Amino acid sequence: GGANVKAHFVFIPLMFQGHLIPAVDTALLLATHGALVSIVVTPSNTGRIRPAVDFARKSGLPVRLVELPLDLAAEGLPDGADDVEKVPSDLWTNYFRALARLREPLERHFHAAGAPYPTCVVADFCHPWAKELAANLAVPRLSFFSMCAFCLLCQHNVERFNAYDGVADDNEPVVVPGLEKRVEVSRAQAPGFFRGTPGFEMFADDVEQALVEADGIVTNSFLEMEPEYVAGYAEARSMKVWTVGPVSLFHQRKATLASRGNTAAIGADECLRWLDGKEPGSVMYVSFGSIAQAEPKQVVELGLGLEASGHPFIWVVKNADQHGEDVTEFLRELEGRVAGRGLLIRGWAPQVLILSHAAVGGFVTHCGWNSTMEAITAGLPVVAWPHFADQFLNAKFAVEVLGIGVDVGVMEPLMYRMDQKEIVVGRDVVEKAVRSVLDGGDEGEERRRRARALAAKAKAAVEEGGSSHGNLLDLIKSFEVD
Ligand code: UDP
Repeated sequence: GGANVKAHFVFIPLMFQGHLIPAVDTALLLATHGALVSIVVTPSNTGRIRPAVDFARKSGLPVRLVELPLDLAAEGLPDGADDVEKVPSDLWTNYFRALARLREPLERHFHAAGAPYPTCVVADFCHPWAKELAANLAVPRLSFFSMCAFCLLCQHNVERFNAYDGVADDNEPVVVPGLEKRVEVSRAQAPGFFRGTPGFEMFADDVEQALVEADGIVTNSFLEMEPEYVAGYAEARSMKVWTVGPVSLFHQRKATLASRGNTAAIGADECLRWLDGKEPGSVMYVSFGSIAQAEPKQVVELGLGLEASGHPFIWVVKNADQHGEDVTEFLRELEGRVAGRGLLIRGWAPQVLILSHAAVGGFVTHCGWNSTMEAITAGLPVVAWPHFADQFLNAKFAVEVLGIGVDVGVMEPLMYRMDQKEIVVGRDVVEKAVRSVLDGGDEGEERRRRARALAAKAKAAVEEGGSSHGNLLDLIKSFEVD
């Protein structure tokens, strides 16, 4: 529809790729339906979203970018550390404190003559200070997540029913209270947002309080995938939950698909040409998102497992140059042995573009929610290999609830409290998991069938008459002002 300046959403993403990307997609979807959106971004992150925003603007969508510097020096952070890749690992508390300094400049921006006044703030749940911002602007505020309702409800029930009380061992399994389905978690796997992270105790309380006081929740999931969990979470929080996903479906064209987040380390055409030469459903895509780090030993075992599987693969190797000379040499030799069958991408991959190609048959993923949702959207079964944070719950959701994955059997977090743990998944386990997802007999076929059925529901959700489509329209209606 035409621009409906009666609704003006101010999006304040957390500037981690896994938060920024879905927030921008959601904002652009709202703009597609006629709402004015302002997206707040800091200088080092503008490049990550500019291609999508420019494309949207050229298509006539009402989108504003509000670029504000982050006061890094005031919090003892080095220049450029508004890019999370540049935050020294011992200064994360400083980073989150610095974010709260966006509030005053934002208030000034929207109080200044010429700036359109917002009707609603949509802030990542990791910005508890947005509570004060919305109060000072006297507008409602929504909490933004890119998580499934299953994960949100499990986490909430563990906290509100004190499921970990009296449990001494962080790895001891505990049944999530208040669910019909039996789901086991442990404190190590599901500590709660920011809980258990040294230095973040008070911040975790602030995050929860800001959520309690929000006027609703927007998340990148869709109703038909998990109706009982969406309803259960909304009821538990006594709050409206708008599921608006899969938000990656905003991107229907190669131009924006290939430039979502960082600049890709491989050309879209080269990538597609490589995939065009492969049989449908034959290629395994392997990537662990934007944060998770692998031990050098793990890189080697993974590579050997992929080689042994006999299947074609695209393997995204992050920080390939930081694993030492042995790994560099190993990767070079591996590339030689699997030439034509294995494609290594050293750096950022055009992930959704790759996943949408018919040659791809499965995804070895760390189960960041965006990646999981993108696998679902593409109708792909997954090898679930969670590392930290909500990834364990997402893995359980994919494997135990949706029945579209096999897990690699990692019980303990690989990066609990941002430390590294030396659990190495062996090459045999990798090989077996890859084979069972891409072949796997009747069970494998069932998994693929379920994944395809889910993808059809995902697409229907964002189309006219679908639940996510309806929720986007409802959001605009709910927050328009005459
Ligand atoms: N992504 C990408 N190319 C890469 C790595 C990641 O496009 O090489 C995108 C991916 O499609 C997803 C996001 O970055 O949208 C990562 O979010 P996710 O929740 O999966 O994981 P996180 O990075 O937060 O751990």
